[in-house]
Amino acid sequence: MTATQTAALRVEKLDRVFDVSAPFLSRLLYRQERRYLHAVNDVSVSVPSGGCLSLVGESGCDKSTVARLITGIYPPKSGQIRFAPGRSGQPLSAQMIFQDTYASLNPRWRVKNIIAEPYLHRIVEHAETEVVFADPKHPCTRLLLETIPDVNSPHRDRKIVAGEVPSPLCPPSGCTFHPRYPLAQDRCKIERPSQEARPEGARVACHFA
Ligand code: SF4
Repeated sequence: MTATQTAALRVEKLDRVFDVSAPFLSRLLYRQERRYLHAVNDVSVSVPSGGCLSLVGESGCDKSTVARLITGIYPPKSGQIRFAPGRSGQPLSAQMIFQDTYASLNPRWRVKNIIAEPYLHRIVEHAETEVVFADPKHPCTRLLLETIPDVNSPHRDRKIVAGEVPSPLCPPSGCTFHPRYPLAQDRCKIERPSQEARPEGARVACHFA
């Protein structure tokens, strides 16, 4: 979104933690500590007026939790969700539409479609659909696009991301994508990348993208 466009929705530094502790008696009997699941961490996205936000990614990447926070089903622990006023002067609201990833990534959509890709409680890439298709930056996005069937070359070699999304109760250190990325560097294992703005309008969380 450019500086001159009005944001219909602005989400800033959204956080949500769930208490997933065992029941009190079990904790007492087995001397267990309380356990907390940091499901959404520092999520910021904005959607221009007339636009649509597609949350895409693998199962278990907390897309639904982010959507439930934005639509007000879950209250956030911290952060802000701001809708611009509509024609009546009342703030706009959001509605969830569940659909398959391939349809969400359709670049022919007429509305300004913003893609945000969560991976293990954080947004790793956030940009307009055309920008993501033209030049996906984050390795996770590139691998996700690889999974889209291509009718023109149905037998092409596809690089499918190996492994599964790690448990959010025990996330990997540094960049949480590093255990599944064969080209990860030492820095990826110790330092969490922050989301940086790119000249073409994307925001990407990767040390090397
Ligand atoms: S920070 Fe490292 S592991 Fe994470 S996406 Fe970038 S290159 Fe891959």
